[in-house]
Amino acid sequence: MPAGQPILIRTIAEMRQALKAGRYAGRRIGLVATLGALHDGHASLLRRARRECDIVVASVYVNPTQFGPNETFAKYPRRLQLDLEVCGREGVDFVFAPADAEMYGGGSLTTIHVARLTDRLCGPIRPGHFDGVCTVVAKFFNIFQPNLAYFGQKDAQQIVVLQRMVADLNLPIEIVVCPTIREPDGLAMASRNACLDPCQLQQAPCLYRALQTGRDAIEKGARTSEGVAAIMREVVAAAGPFAIDYLETVDARTLEPMDPLCGTVLVAGAIRIGTVRLIDNLVVEVA
Ligand code: AMP
Repeated sequence: MPAGQPILIRTIAEMRQALKAGRYAGRRIGLVATLGALHDGHASLLRRARRECDIVVASVYVNPTQFGPNETFAKYPRRLQLDLEVCGREGVDFVFAPADAEMYGGGSLTTIHVARLTDRLCGPIRPGHFDGVCTVVAKFFNIFQPNLAYFGQKDAQQIVVLQRMVADLNLPIEIVVCPTIREPDGLAMASRNACLDPCQLQQAPCLYRALQTGRDAIEKGARTSEGVAAIMREVVAAAGPFAIDYLETVDARTLEPMDPLCGTVLVAGAIRIGTVRLIDNLVVEVA
């Protein structure tokens, strides 16, 4: 393997062994958990972890338990060799890419469920999704025992849910939230964007434009959730006949709806363009 390439690890036992000496020596371990098909959004997390930690581990694992029966698990892009190159460029020390049998071969009977925070936004549309995410992330936290774990603001609900899991289970891990990285046209980078055809790629930034329009309306004084949602729906409808899973304004901390809007507001949306589901969000402070 060329110099600067991360060490690829396939088993939990080897992963634990690889980190043991560093952990006992008091070195800071940073984790970036990914589904792979790495892009500049992932790279920004890896770069920050490299700056702040002594040892950087990236997991590249398309976790089956966070996909629903009608979702794109089989079609999810997989390209480990390219991911290893990205990790090499960003100075990652270890890439953990286990097989499903390694992660779930024993026939797992345990699931982590964070209540309430998963009842809104993506939760009802993707039943079981956050249970799958929390369970696999808890497994990773247990396998790597990182000091810091880096997550992207793009998945805002995931962050709120994982922060709650860490607090409720007293896990000694700091969750570091990293900003959303976008294409020049505003589209939030996502591995799934690779599944959009050229025409759909041109239409996809309508989600970001809708969120911006919602944010602008709030900044100009709009205070009702329904009013802001209606404005956002118009922007998406003007771009094409896309299914809107939700376009909402919620409390950024609790994810609960609120009227009138006040405090830190999460303006969040999910739409489907063809079979590709896009999510994005912006945060607005309301005085
Ligand atoms: P995924 O591979 O989609 O599960 O993403 C792995 C991590 O990268 C998650 O913490 C995501 O929030 C983060 N991430 C994905 N896309 C972006 C982006 N465009 N900007 C910043 N972080 C991102």
